[in-house]
Amino acid sequence: SLKCGIVGLPNVGKSTIFNAITNAGAEAANYPFCTIEPNVGMVSVPDSRLDELVKVYNPKSIVPAVTEFVDIAGLVKGASKGEGLGNQFLTHIRECNAIMEVVRCFEDDDITHVLGSVDPVRDIDIIETELILKDLDSVEKRLNTEAKAARTGNAKAKENLEACELLKKGLEEGHSAREYIGKNGDALDAIVQDLALLTAKPLFYCANIREDDLEKKGNAYVDQLKEFAAKQGTSVVVISGKIEEELSTMEPEDKAELLKDYGMEESGLDSVVREGYRILGLQTFFTAGEKECRAWTFEKGSKAPRCAGVIHSDFEKGFIRAETLAFEDFRKYGSWNAAKEAGVVRTEGKEYVVKDGDIMYYLFNV
Ligand code: GDP
Repeated sequence: SLKCGIVGLPNVGKSTIFNAITNAGAEAANYPFCTIEPNVGMVSVPDSRLDELVKVYNPKSIVPAVTEFVDIAGLVKGASKGEGLGNQFLTHIRECNAIMEVVRCFEDDDITHVLGSVDPVRDIDIIETELILKDLDSVEKRLNTEAKAARTGNAKAKENLEACELLKKGLEEGHSAREYIGKNGDALDAIVQDLALLTAKPLFYCANIREDDLEKKGNAYVDQLKEFAAKQGTSVVVISGKIEEELSTMEPEDKAELLKDYGMEESGLDSVVREGYRILGLQTFFTAGEKECRAWTFEKGSKAPRCAGVIHSDFEKGFIRAETLAFEDFRKYGSWNAAKEAGVVRTEGKEYVVKDGDIMYYLFNV
């Protein structure tokens, strides 16, 4: 599943948003593979297609896809050099596959900003610098090892050394590692992945605004942030932590009412999950039956055996074939059997690239 780290300076609203996530919490019992730690919260991925399946199958158990959020506290100026909570939290970020950076875009005289004023771009710069410094450490260490190996005439090491040098130079100039991946050769990409560089992780900004600014969906700070993010090609999700906290404990009808009051189509958490999925290229397939209707997360472009492996590694190993139904066809015919009679349930083999929304039924050897 998607594991998203929440970073940001102190007093920007991380805990408030994290509380909302824990309150909204997906039922942990359904996800035995997840270890629940105090700094980890899980939310269900909103998907109306799962609701449609449930209406037809009326299953005993309904399991949405989940996103894990990890609250990564302690990122302050100087963190890479051991200020604040020190360095350990960076290991938490390494385990995440995406980063949500909460950026304070609200003024409040009662809530100190650690740097005295609200300034989204400056705040982003501080966090980025800390992450870059940390990556620089990792790259320099690797560079030294490769340099030693290269001296013995090892061609691969020489190639790796060049990649490290390029990365080091870039980081020193204040660039993120993500600017270098996918265009500087396989050696560099492999090193970035190997070192799990922090500035290579997909990232988006979460602008935290006051509830009074929600209706106009922003303010001057959000505009500054958006302008900056657009230049970087990074996306921005605007939310109000306070409202999310309220929404997270509400009954569905009250929740709908409050969303309507603020002119929102969905909760901020839903938008955040959606964005996480988008930047990671994640999609959903379904399994459906009277026992269980369930949504599963897979990487866009994955073939059928790989997707079967999301359910269980044995399904991947013993994969024979899959019967599959596109969600639109399920909707059109109203049930699997009707779709089958209409001839739109397909049999697909190992090479089939699973599509978002596919309902899958796997056949496999045990
Ligand atoms: P953290 O240090 O980043 O975890 O920040 P917190 O979540 O503890 O928030 C810092 C302060 O800002 C708290 O007093 C929150 O109540 C307040 N705060 C957070 N989000 C909002 C918001 O959306 N609106 C308003 N008015 N206050 C907020």
